[in-house]
Amino acid sequence: MYNILMHLETHKTYCPHCGERIEVVIDPSASQEYIEDCQVCCNPFELRIIIGDGNESSIEIYGDI
Ligand SMILES: [Zn+2]
Repeated sequence: MYNILMHLETHKTYCPHCGERIEVVIDPSASQEYIEDCQVCCNPFELRIIIGDGNESSIEIYGDI
């Protein structure tokens, strides 16, 4: 029996509130949306991870939630 390791990717992006560079960890196996707090200014933002056909992941970040 195999343990399936979740393959997580770290992406660098910028906080929509304070503009600081932040790191977000995403699961590139599925598109997803979630709310996270900025590590710098603690304001919440919404992350939308979109997985394309070629398995490339793109991130959209929204400060308006
Ligand atoms: Zn911030």
